[in-house]
Amino acid sequence: MKALGAGFATTLRHLWRKPVTEEYPEYRRALPERSRARIVLTHDPDGGERCVACYLCSGVCPVSCISMQAAEMPDGRRYAAWFRINFARCIYCGLCEEACPTAAIQLTPDFENIQRDILKLVFEKEDLLVDGCGKDKTYNFYRWAGVATAAGGKGAHEREAPPVRVRSNLP
Ligand code: SF4
Ligand code: SF4
Repeated sequence: MKALGAGFATTLRHLWRKPVTEEYPEYRRALPERSRARIVLTHDPDGGERCVACYLCSGVCPVSCISMQAAEMPDGRRYAAWFRINFARCIYCGLCEEACPTAAIQLTPDFENIQRDILKLVFEKEDLLVDGCGKDKTYNFYRWAGVATAAGGKGAHEREAPPVRVRSNLP
């Protein structure tokens, strides 16, 4: 009987206490600055698609949730004809972003990416592409790559010497 009374007393005591549960989405906790969630594909500062379809991100992804098909423009610039991420499998580890040589693929803090229909978590290139450059506002892979494109011909890239004229270079 005594134990029963103690139990009721505890219940009554807790009945008037303020709840400690934070209601979501009414209350949104501030996220850490480097929190990682939904992935995007970015453009370079000249407005071109950054992704060169090198497959490094899909190769490094521990859950194999990235797939794509590489293609090439007439000026030699590579791009992804299609690019797909299955967010139902993604564990937001960030390895794809680390592997990317062009800063194309980037993780954002947007975690509100939940769907009842699991197939809606498969994002195509048009769902992933954003207008801007994301975290790195200045980097353009083709200004450094040494590949002749509209961004620069041979010898016009950063830290690249002009092409050598082989005839004048002979002893
Ligand atoms: S964050 Fe990790 S799991 Fe998600 S796509 Fe990138 S490498 Fe794969
Ligand atoms: S997102 Fe980056 S790592 Fe992935 S294929 Fe494109 S350029 Fe390569």
